[in-house]
Amino acid sequence: MKTEYLFLILFSFLAVPAWAQPYTLLIKGGHLIDPKNNIDAIMDVAITDGKVTQVAKSIDAKQARQVVDAKGMYVTPGLIDIHGHVFYGTEPDHYLSNGLVAVSPDGFTFRVGVTTIVDAGGAGWKSFETFKKNIIFTSKTRVLSFMNIVGEGMRGGKFEQDTTDMDPKMAAKVALENKNDVVGFKVAHFQGPSWAPVDHAVAAGKLADMPVIIDFGGNNPPLSLEELFMKHLRPGDIFTHAYTLLEGNVRETIVDEATKTVKPFAWEARKKGIVFDVGYGGASFNYSQAIPAVKAKFYPTTISTDLHTGSMNGSMKDMLSIMSKFVAMGEDIPSVIKASTWTPAQVIKRENLGHLSVGAIADVAIFSMRQGTFGFYDKTGYKMMGKQKFECEMTIKGGKVVYDLNGIGIASAK
Ligand SMILES: [Zn+2]
Repeated sequence: MKTEYLFLILFSFLAVPAWAQPYTLLIKGGHLIDPKNNIDAIMDVAITDGKVTQVAKSIDAKQARQVVDAKGMYVTPGLIDIHGHVFYGTEPDHYLSNGLVAVSPDGFTFRVGVTTIVDAGGAGWKSFETFKKNIIFTSKTRVLSFMNIVGEGMRGGKFEQDTTDMDPKMAAKVALENKNDVVGFKVAHFQGPSWAPVDHAVAAGKLADMPVIIDFGGNNPPLSLEELFMKHLRPGDIFTHAYTLLEGNVRETIVDEATKTVKPFAWEARKKGIVFDVGYGGASFNYSQAIPAVKAKFYPTTISTDLHTGSMNGSMKDMLSIMSKFVAMGEDIPSVIKASTWTPAQVIKRENLGHLSVGAIADVAIFSMRQGTFGFYDKTGYKMMGKQKFECEMTIKGGKVVYDLNGIGIASAK
């Protein structure tokens, strides 16, 4: 009798008692695109204690403590940007390695739906401890690393030209000691006519069983891209800055600028399993390459930013700006989402990320597709007009709302 009375009092305070609300968060009415699970439909997603607990046509809102109204929006796995520069610091003249050209991850990730970012070569094996202590451990964003094959990391200038500081054994050793954080090795900015940096990185990749990501070129005449893909790289290795045309003929292109066709060796490389990554950056994306490629359905395997203070204030902006450009060029939205979620997860061998299967880590992005007239330009000033543009409404990392643009997770006061 007494307990019944107590329950009666409790019910009068709570419309639905907490024990009847198994979900911490429910995303209702959104258009779910989950490429791993082949879902492209209106679906509700329920989250409990950081994990996805149910995905269904309709889940009762009363079963959740917090409800997010995602009607008219896209719901996708949290974006994975495999080429960013987040090893920021205050060392003078340190470029993208503990320097001022890199950016703090949390300031630039959640606001555009990114939950995981891979720093592409900021740290080498000598600076990895500092990177881990200062950035990985202190960021809310999931930060991973492509370790630079240069021991000093991406310090710019002469440091990145020093082949004697490219030690595959030390790089692999430190990578394996930190295999929760390191996903592969990076080569960048080398200007000589030598294959040594690529080969050292691949040697480290073989020792650690990890992919390499290559920022290629710097010599005139350029080294052969076909040789890079077919002789030096392995299936699963990544060619970043895929759609760039560099000044001074220091790098071959994948699209023939005269005929506007994708070169046969690029198709061959794709068949072999070479990953074509956008790595948009400050100077690494040209429409003259990307438009013919997209027309031929030579889509990017992975979409990434090459985020740093230069690119984000140039034509690159952020992940959503790049994704919107590929939509404007004619790539379908599910493919664009896949290249920004599930495929990058596979490329960096983090198959626990990039999807919203029941039981998966609840990293989620929610986007509006803004309708209007938008200008999408590249570094040359070539401008395309688009009618739609992604805008991030909400980002959820490990089941927690970390960004909410318009308060879609908050019940209205009236
Ligand atoms: Zn970069």
